[in-house]
Amino acid sequence: MTDTKTQETHAFQAEVSRLLEIVAHSLYSERQVFLRELVSNASDACDKLRFLGQQDAKLIGDDSELRIELAVDKAARTLTVSDNGIGMDKDELVANLGTIARSGTAAFVKAMEESQRKDNPLIGQFGVGFYSAFMVADRVTVDSRKAGTDAAWRWESDGKGSYAVGAGERASRGTSIVLHLKDDAAEFLDEGRLGEIVRRYSDHIAIPIKLGETTLNRASALWMRAKADVTAEQHTEFYRHIAHAFDEPWANLHWRAEGVIEYSALLYVPGSRPFDLFAPERRHGVKLYVRRVFVNEAPEGLVPRYLRFLRGVVDSEDLPLNVSREMLQNNPVIAKIRQGLTGRVLGELEKRAKDDADGYATFWGHFGEAMKEGIFEDAEHGKRVLGLARFRTSTQGDGWASLADYVSRMKPEQDAIYYIAGDDPKAVAASPHLEGFAKRGIEVLLLSDPVDEFWVAQTDAFDGKKFKSVTRGAADLAKFAEAEKKDDAKPDDTPDVAPLLALFRLTLGDTVKDVRASERLAESAVCLVADENDMDIHLERMLRQHKQLKAASKRILEINPAHPLVRALVATVKTDGENAAMQARVGDVAKLLYDQARLVEGDKLEDPADFARRMAAALAAGFPAH
Ligand code: ADP
Ligand code: MG
Repeated sequence: MTDTKTQETHAFQAEVSRLLEIVAHSLYSERQVFLRELVSNASDACDKLRFLGQQDAKLIGDDSELRIELAVDKAARTLTVSDNGIGMDKDELVANLGTIARSGTAAFVKAMEESQRKDNPLIGQFGVGFYSAFMVADRVTVDSRKAGTDAAWRWESDGKGSYAVGAGERASRGTSIVLHLKDDAAEFLDEGRLGEIVRRYSDHIAIPIKLGETTLNRASALWMRAKADVTAEQHTEFYRHIAHAFDEPWANLHWRAEGVIEYSALLYVPGSRPFDLFAPERRHGVKLYVRRVFVNEAPEGLVPRYLRFLRGVVDSEDLPLNVSREMLQNNPVIAKIRQGLTGRVLGELEKRAKDDADGYATFWGHFGEAMKEGIFEDAEHGKRVLGLARFRTSTQGDGWASLADYVSRMKPEQDAIYYIAGDDPKAVAASPHLEGFAKRGIEVLLLSDPVDEFWVAQTDAFDGKKFKSVTRGAADLAKFAEAEKKDDAKPDDTPDVAPLLALFRLTLGDTVKDVRASERLAESAVCLVADENDMDIHLERMLRQHKQLKAASKRILEINPAHPLVRALVATVKTDGENAAMQARVGDVAKLLYDQARLVEGDKLEDPADFARRMAAALAAGFPAH
C-alpha cells in the first residue's frame, strides 16, 4: 500500500457548504427527487462511457450491458444506487463532489440565501444534483472506479463541512453510492415506493434501472416512442435531464423523418432565458445520437446559431457510429437534418404565434434577440424569421407588434416602415425624433437590441416596404395630416427662420454638416440627424465602440421653428441682428443647443466644461442682476 491510499479530509468549497446547509434544513416536501438526480448522473456516466468506448473499445470490454441498479439493505438502513458507467478517479471525486461547477447551481444558492426561507419550493424546482442525497441521508459513501483503471476510490461525507477521500472498493468499472438514510426517510427502503418514484421521474432514462430482477423503467429512448405515448410530465423530466435545466419546456417538437435521410428528433424550447445566451462560446443544446448511441454533445452545424436556445436530441439512422468530430463538420447528412429541423421549428413557432399570441410574446421576450440573427444569417429562412419577429413600437406601449401588424396600421400616404435604433429602450422611446411622428399618429419601431442595426442594414424590405430610420435624412412628414388639430390651434404663423439658420451655421461652422428647420420635432427645440447618405447615428456609434470605425461623420442640426425659444431667437435676430453682442449671445445659444442635442443622443460632449460655463451664463441671464 502506498500513502496515496490513506484517507484525506477536505473542506467543501464554501458554496457547497452553504448549499448543503440549505438542503439539510429544508422542509422540502418532494425530497424523493434525490433519486431522480442520482439516476440522472448514473445515466450520464453510462452515456459518457458509451461515447468514449467508440474510440477505445477496451473501456467497455465485455461488460457492455449498461445499467443502473438500486439495492436496499433494511437492516443497515441503506439505499445503494450503482452504475457501470465511466466512473471517477480520485481527482474527479474531489472536483465533482466537492465543488459546484455549474454556475446555475451557484446562482441557485444565492437565490435561496436571499429568499431566507427554509421550506423553499425552489429546491424541488432546481434540483441540487448530487448534493440532494443529503436531503434523505445523514451519511453518503461513494465508491468509484474509473473505466480503464484498476484503482477504486471512496468519497465519504456527513454533509457537514468536509468530506474524506481514500481507498475504495469496486470490483469493476463504475460508481456505487450508498445512502445511510435518515430516521425519517425509511420510506426509501420500500421497493414499491422506489418503483413508483423511478416510473414518475426517470421513466425516460434509456438504460434499464433495476431493483433485483425487476426493471423499473421502460428503458427505451423516449424519442423513439410514439408521440402520443409520451406524457407532458415525461417531457418535462426528460427535458430537465438532458438540458440540465430546472424550468418547464415551453414547447416540444417530436417527429420522425423518413425518406432520403432518416432520423428521429425530440426538441424543446425552454420556458426561460438562460443567462449565457449571448456568451461567445455558447452552443446549442441538441445532442446527436446515432441509432440510439450518444455520439456528440452539440455538433456544429446541426442547429443554426440563432436557434441555439433549443434543447433535445436528434437520432440519425444514416451516420456511421464512429463518426468523428471532423467528419461531422460539413457533413451532408447533418446539413440535411439542419434544414429539416429549421423548417420544423419555424413552422411550430409560426403556429404558436397564431394560436397563442401571449405565450409567443413571452417566448420572443426570451429568445427574440437571438432569433433576429437569423434574419440575415439564414439566407434560406431569413424572410420567415423576419415574419416571426416582434417589436416594441411607439404606439403599442408594452405590447409587441409583428411587421404584418405594423403594415396593417400604416397611413395611406406612408410607404416606409419607420424605425429608431438606440441602446437604451427608455431613451429610444423618449427620443425627440419621434415627436413629429407621434403628432401625426405614425407608428415607429423602437429598436434597442445590438443586433437590430445589423438585420435592418441587410434587409431590403418587408412586404415591399423599405425600412427608414427616423434619425436619418429628411423626415418628409409634410404629406401626412396631423392626427389632432387642437381647437385653439394657432394659424400657421411659422416665422421665417432663414436668418437664424444662417447665424447658427456661422457659429457652428465645421462641427455640423448643416442647420435646417425640422419637421420631425414637436416639443423639443433641436435634434441631430444623419444626412440621407450617411450612416445612421446609432449604428455609427456602435461601430466606433467596436473600433470598426474611427472618425464620426458630421450631423445635421435640426431646429424646431415652433419652439418658444426658437421663436424668441428668430425675433431677436430680426430686430437686433446687426448687434455684435447680440450675435455672440445667439451664438452661445447655438452651441448650447448643439451640445444638448448630443446629450439626448447619448453622446459625450467634446468640452463639458465649456458647456457648463455657457449653461450657467445663459441661466444667469434669465434673472435680474444683483
Ligand atoms: P450535474 O449532473 O448537473 O453535473 P451533479 O451535482 O448531479 O451535477 O453531479 C456533479 C458531477 O459529479 C457530475 O457532473 C459528474 O461529473 C459527477 N458524477 C456524479 N455522479 C456520477 C456517477 N454516478 N458517475 C460518474 N460521475 C458522476
Ligand atoms: Mg446531475
